[in-house]
Amino acid sequence: MIIAIDGPAASGKGTIARRLASFYNLPHLDTGLLYRATAQGLLAADLPLHDEEHAVAMARGLALTDFDENLLRGAHMGEAASIVAAIPSVREALVQVQREFAQRKSGAVLDGRDIGTIICPHADVKIFVTASREVRAMRRVLELQSRGEAPDPETVLADIARRDARDAGRTSAPLRQADDARMLDTSDLDIEAAFSAARAFVEAVRHKV
Ligand code: C5P
Repeated sequence: MIIAIDGPAASGKGTIARRLASFYNLPHLDTGLLYRATAQGLLAADLPLHDEEHAVAMARGLALTDFDENLLRGAHMGEAASIVAAIPSVREALVQVQREFAQRKSGAVLDGRDIGTIICPHADVKIFVTASREVRAMRRVLELQSRGEAPDPETVLADIARRDARDAGRTSAPLRQADDARMLDTSDLDIEAAFSAARAFVEAVRHKV
């Protein structure tokens, strides 16, 4: 069973994906880490985020196992990731590794922006997770605080708005709900309720056969 979870920043898609993976005992790939690691590689080498040649080389050289999540999940790395993620050749360089992950015998859960549309168009279950921008910004503030950062809520809201616009407005694999994806709005849901709703979508598909 392949479960594809997409949605904008801080919608809750990562937590839902992790919970589903653990519940169904499936491997999970947070595909945002691939773009974050590509951006981080460029920044660490003092290269501009628009340097296509080096960005593609970085993307091709990534190994799924060596992500330093603490480093990659910082506030500015999401912004940097969305800049490299808008480069079509960088996306192409990362397609294969994601599809191979999805094709594991066990099945898999992948979350990102284009899983249901581009990476796994034939996924068994597709969920598009969303929430109001204000709720997402508040969640991101709490997450950053829990990491020891001291974010300014207005700045976080503006960052989210900018990232939404860039992710949805790019020409290559823009963020959008796949035609056959179920929409899950988590604005008024806590994590347990969001997970239950996502699980109900999966169960509906499992019992259809
Ligand atoms: O999901 P996360 O916030 O970690 O993603 C960081 C950035 O990586 C996103 O804003 C988006 O630009 C990019 N991304 C993408 N496609 C994916 C996953 C992430 O373009 N499948």
